[in-house]
Amino acid sequence: MSIETKLRARSESACELCTSSTDLAVYEVAPTTTGGVDDCAYLCQTCRSQIDKSSEVDVHHWRCLNESMWSQVPAVQVLAWRMLTRLSSEGWTQDLDTVGQFLKECMNKKNGAKALLKESFEAYCDWCMQGKVRPKSQPKFISDLKIRKIHIENGAHNNRIIPNWTLRE
Ligand SMILES: [Zn+2]
Repeated sequence: MSIETKLRARSESACELCTSSTDLAVYEVAPTTTGGVDDCAYLCQTCRSQIDKSSEVDVHHWRCLNESMWSQVPAVQVLAWRMLTRLSSEGWTQDLDTVGQFLKECMNKKNGAKALLKESFEAYCDWCMQGKVRPKSQPKFISDLKIRKIHIENGAHNNRIIPNWTLRE
């Protein structure tokens, strides 16, 4: 039986880090001891390319490590821990464009709508916590919006609002 066949059985044809089922391939975890199935993980393209640094790290993708670090497979444990260490040591969790990602995932552009700044900032902080990323301060949040030409305005009752945006349910 080939290594790939064994890995497919072990992983139930799902990426052993993020459970994606697309574009799976054998990933050898160096340094290998036996070169066998125990030194390999079955990974999707997204995981492989980010581990190999051939594509940019998407921290939210790596939420999956919360689960996969408990894997019974040593090669998967090694990869998960390596990736967790890399994420924190290279400071990615601080330099990330969390505000841009948050807008993309949690807010919608809508003419004439308005989102309360307070609510939006709270939602942003929750979203960061879920992704185990440290949120930016509110002034930094506002200046990151400004970079995107989103300007805070004063709404009714002195509530500051983000015009033309809504929070997704
Ligand atoms: Zn994956």
